[in-house]
Amino acid sequence: MIDRPPSHLFYQGRNRKPVLDQARGVYMWDVDGKRYLDGSSGAMVCNIGHSNPHVLAAMRDQMERATFGYRLHFETEASEKLAVMTAARTPEGLNKVFFVSGGSEAVESAMKLARQWAVATGQGQRWKVISRTPSYHGCTLGALAITGYAPLTAPFDPMMRPMPKIPAPRAYLDGLDPGDPLTGLHYADMLEDCILQEGPETILAFMVEPVGGASTGALVPPAGYLERVREICDTYGILMIADEVMTGVGRTGRFLATEHWGVVPDLIVMSKGYAAGYVPLGAMVAHDRLVDPVLDEGGFQHGFTYAGNPLSCAAGVAVLEVVERQGLCANADAMGDVLKARLEGLMARYPVIGDVRGKGLLLAFEFVADRHGMRPLPREMAAYDRFVQIAYGNGLIVYSRRTRGGIEGDHILVCPPLIVTEAHIDEIIEKLDLSLGQFVAEIEPALAVGA
Ligand code: PLP
Repeated sequence: MIDRPPSHLFYQGRNRKPVLDQARGVYMWDVDGKRYLDGSSGAMVCNIGHSNPHVLAAMRDQMERATFGYRLHFETEASEKLAVMTAARTPEGLNKVFFVSGGSEAVESAMKLARQWAVATGQGQRWKVISRTPSYHGCTLGALAITGYAPLTAPFDPMMRPMPKIPAPRAYLDGLDPGDPLTGLHYADMLEDCILQEGPETILAFMVEPVGGASTGALVPPAGYLERVREICDTYGILMIADEVMTGVGRTGRFLATEHWGVVPDLIVMSKGYAAGYVPLGAMVAHDRLVDPVLDEGGFQHGFTYAGNPLSCAAGVAVLEVVERQGLCANADAMGDVLKARLEGLMARYPVIGDVRGKGLLLAFEFVADRHGMRPLPREMAAYDRFVQIAYGNGLIVYSRRTRGGIEGDHILVCPPLIVTEAHIDEIIEKLDLSLGQFVAEIEPALAVGA
């Protein structure tokens, strides 16, 4: 993206990025003074906006008291308070909170607690965790084994035990009405078929993103899907794990996305919005009935050195306070409707957009070469990457991926912080409009040749 000498630092590739100088609210500035509107909250993380004074003050206060107390030596007021606040905001019965430093750690923890619960309750034959394709549950090997996204998993396949996958409910591609309860049942049946085929007695859990994240581009489940999934899990004694790493803490307009459907999972994992980018933090929240037998049988054989770090927990407490005091779940709900309608307005003007979807402020649009056949743009165009670069040039940060329902395609996530106002949304749409115009002008000649 930027021509600068190579760095000693590396992540995915060699592209250099602008150097961040400051961030406030929904805006970020690089060291050259260029301003960006953070239209994706980083990676759907910075839910309360940048540099919130209440969180900074809470962190400063905690830093002056103690920055580290090892979890096996001390409890801290911050970790105890965050656990109480978390249990109060999750469904009844889910009262046990286990702290980690990120989403992958939370997913690993949930898989391992589920397994230890099975062993402790005489169900040692249960070990398989069913998940969906596409999906993303993290980059560590356990979380990766249940991730349905071949470009990330393929190099590591020989190092992982294969886990069963079912298709995510991609009604928009399969030509089904997502509002029809039969559509929900159709996709939920795939879970039951998989359980029966694998042997119900071997299945430990079903891991599901209630609203899909980056892997599906904000895929909302069809009517009745999650409710039926819950019933199927109950029928076969299988644990339902909600991966709310991206959706948790208000992103979809409710504290948890599962609340939209009144579904109560057995385990919930959260991370991104939980500390909103201020510190590395995540949590697994488990039902008492899972944790008690494990603690009775010698304890949970799992834990991370930085877990329950007082600074992280103090930031987490302050983030939850901000979410509540500023009514950010309700704002995500209301502003999500406004932003979605405005994205649909862009879709009406740009045939290259084939679908707009999502819930609250977890929204995405998908590029197509042909809206009727939902044919994706040619892979060589790398539209997901090119569009992000164009938007970047116009001072807007958005997030993208190339994949959909197991079929190739490009989608762009538009997920600003939950503090957005209508004026910010005007600015996002203006910059998207400009970027779409430039993008279409660039790809049109190639599309005309390919038509
Ligand atoms: N689960 C979901 C749904 C995610 O979106 C992510 C990250 O994008 C993860 C798990 C992994 O979280 P982390 O990157 O913090 O390890």
